[in-house]
Amino acid sequence: MEQVALIECPSYDVDLVEQKLREGFELLGGEPFLRRLIPAGSSVLLKPNLLSVEAPGSLVVTHHAVFEAVVRIVRDYSEKLSFGDSPGFGDPRRAVEKAGLTEVAGRYGVKFQDFRESLHVKCEDALLCKSWEIARAPYEADVLITLPKLKTHGLAFMTGAIKNQFGCVPGLQKAAWHTRMTDPRNFSRMLLDLNTALGTHFAILDGITAMEGNGPRNGSPFQLNALIMGQSLSAVDSVAARLIGYSDPLDVPALKEAHESKWGAVLPQEIAVLGESIERLKTTHFKLARSASDSSNRIFGLMAPLLRGAMVPEPALRQEKCIGCRRCFDVCPLKPKVISMIEKGGKSMPRWNMDNCIRCFCCQELCPEGAIELRYRGIGKLLHRHSNS
Ligand code: SF4
Ligand code: SF4
Repeated sequence: MEQVALIECPSYDVDLVEQKLREGFELLGGEPFLRRLIPAGSSVLLKPNLLSVEAPGSLVVTHHAVFEAVVRIVRDYSEKLSFGDSPGFGDPRRAVEKAGLTEVAGRYGVKFQDFRESLHVKCEDALLCKSWEIARAPYEADVLITLPKLKTHGLAFMTGAIKNQFGCVPGLQKAAWHTRMTDPRNFSRMLLDLNTALGTHFAILDGITAMEGNGPRNGSPFQLNALIMGQSLSAVDSVAARLIGYSDPLDVPALKEAHESKWGAVLPQEIAVLGESIERLKTTHFKLARSASDSSNRIFGLMAPLLRGAMVPEPALRQEKCIGCRRCFDVCPLKPKVISMIEKGGKSMPRWNMDNCIRCFCCQELCPEGAIELRYRGIGKLLHRHSNS
């Protein structure tokens, strides 16, 4: 039975977050637990979620108060504390500076690690992906603690403890994985393998203010008031999924794969939730990026493949928001690009050739203006509306 601490925390006051995280560690076993997690002399790397270059306190990134609270606790157990990430877009050093993490790290002597330095790794226990080029720093750290931000996600349905390590794949190689793993099932297996290769040790999920709707970059704030902590990434994500409205955690692709491959605990009966109850903190109002029916686990699993295909949304433009920056074009991983930039109404705008689109949603994920949304068409629109009603 995996243990997960679920703690209510209503604000980003750093003293309060620290107190709540200490309560969480107490529930998990207190001092002896922390000493086992971080043996004497270990190096510890903290991996926040830094999708792109964002302002401090932005919904898009792990909040600097959560980062600081974790640093205050972990520094008592390790003198070799560092942090880093490889954002989906933008310079890593600028991303950590802008998000307020450099300032915190400077005060506590936490070293910044540049994830652009990588190494080749073999992973014999992998489900699918046995050969990896990954960032050296998280791989070589004795203890890797992931600090995900809870957000919606077009391809993965939600970002959490499992998905956060995609940032340990350096820069442009993320695009290569998208072109190789084009369906959610294989993409999920790839994420699980990545965590197997890295050996991620512990997760502290920032779900105080989560992101609903058009995530993981352009969604809206949702005050969930939750911190979720545990050694099992799948168990932490399973609790998060149930909090935001997936009544069955197997509706989330990575959790389904984790369960079916026996990679980790996912089912409620496999997880002891300590502290708050899911029942008390869960919501039915959270706007999911993808509904349970999209995963074709239940009745939709019995439908013809063509109909299941209709349940996959497409990227669609909100013209009034587009500023013609071309980032969507730049981040599309396919060659030739699915997107072409056209002149319309005196400005440059993207146009999609949907026949070739692999629905990785990188364009929607990284648009700086929220000008790209997921949109269902035809029968998919009807089914989606029905399943969300
Ligand atoms: S859709 Fe977004 S990323 Fe693409 S050009 Fe417009 S603003 Fe830029
Ligand atoms: S157009 Fe967007 S969703 Fe389609 S392949 Fe390119 S980045 Fe992915």
